[in-house]
Amino acid sequence: MKKNKLLIVLLVLLAIIVLCGAAAGFGYYKYQKTYDAIGEEIIPDDTIFVAETELSPAEARWRVTVYDGFFGKVLGIAGLPTDKTVDAIYELAEIDLGELGEAPYALTAQYRSRNALYTAYLTKDNTEMMLSGEDVLSADDEIALMLEAGTYSLRIESLTDFEKFGGTLTYRCSFSIKDPPPPPPTLVPGKLELEQGEILSFKLLNIPEDITPTISTGLGMAVWAKAGERDWFAAIPIGPAREPGTYNVKISAGEIEYDGTVTVLAYDFDFQDLTVNYGSANVAEATTATALQQYREKIPPLWKTYDEERYWSGKFIRPVEGGYVGTEFGEHRITNGDPSTMRYHYGMDIEVDTGTPIHAPNAGRVVLAEMLLNTGGTVVIEYGGGLKSYFFHMSQIDVTAGDMVAQGDVVGLVGNLGYSTGPHLHYEMRIGDQAVSPSMLFDDGAGLYSADK
Ligand SMILES: [Zn+2]
Repeated sequence: MKKNKLLIVLLVLLAIIVLCGAAAGFGYYKYQKTYDAIGEEIIPDDTIFVAETELSPAEARWRVTVYDGFFGKVLGIAGLPTDKTVDAIYELAEIDLGELGEAPYALTAQYRSRNALYTAYLTKDNTEMMLSGEDVLSADDEIALMLEAGTYSLRIESLTDFEKFGGTLTYRCSFSIKDPPPPPPTLVPGKLELEQGEILSFKLLNIPEDITPTISTGLGMAVWAKAGERDWFAAIPIGPAREPGTYNVKISAGEIEYDGTVTVLAYDFDFQDLTVNYGSANVAEATTATALQQYREKIPPLWKTYDEERYWSGKFIRPVEGGYVGTEFGEHRITNGDPSTMRYHYGMDIEVDTGTPIHAPNAGRVVLAEMLLNTGGTVVIEYGGGLKSYFFHMSQIDVTAGDMVAQGDVVGLVGNLGYSTGPHLHYEMRIGDQAVSPSMLFDDGAGLYSADK
């Protein structure tokens, strides 16, 4: 009897042990153990290629069910060896693929596997982004990305969920994409045969940031204005009084050394005999010593100034609508039949009613906005590189020095103030102290634009 009792006690203990074991088995997904060998034929033979290099898994979390699902165990393995031997464990973390190429770089990754689903994450500058979800990536799929320059790491998780075992394999690799070589420095000359009143222009592209280009020419003031991060623009005026002939231009900008010639052709300017009534009040007031002194103090000093930034772009528009040109740019003008009064007319006189709005012909910075005795309401706009518009005889000024204006903005109204014989807008375009033809700038073919295309 005692032996039977002992046997019953032993059987009960055995049952308890078995049940506890089973309970532990049901909790397998919380139980994790690192195995030092993978003897169980459970790792699927996935193949992942990134940029044509085959990756080995860097990490695995694998679950195996045993005893027909009654028990299970989890394998958490870092550095899963490719040959599945003990020695290679922990050696594989992230595969450095090195520098793959130049931006923009087309990265491809291919998956070849049984039934696995993939999620890929790309990290650049500490920002991780999921490339594709499980719903779009499947076995025998691939990703193709256009990448900019930078240092990247790519993590691909392959998820398998088989009936008897499943889990994730993680593949890691890092690589970098370098910047493409900068485009070569280039000089783009504009039209090299020009008439008096036209504008010679040059454009420099892709100039290294530590280089400031220089330009020298017998044609007068020439300055470079920045036209972009690595681009520069120079406009050189051919004034109406410029002697026809051949002129030299030298440009230096790093590896660019340009030594060329420009041909200036004569333009047949009109002749005008202007009748001015010196007895009239406004003409008398506009020509006093004080008025002329004020003009000399305000206007010619602006000829030497320029902004290095280029504000203008595209074609210049007409400053006023309607009217007609009473006196063209460059006309040889004498006053009251006296040849000794001969001078060039440096602007274009647009005869139009007082009160007509005057629009900024292009984007720029207002450098002067004042009522002056000689020129009446006066506004000067700098477009960059010393290219400026001068508006005279205005009845009203609607801008202030320092204002930035956009093309088409109203800067004031046409008038008849100062040395003026009737309502009109005197519209003058200058680069430095040389006047250029304003009407040529209404035409796409103007020298100013020829280096800008
Ligand atoms: Zn005029």
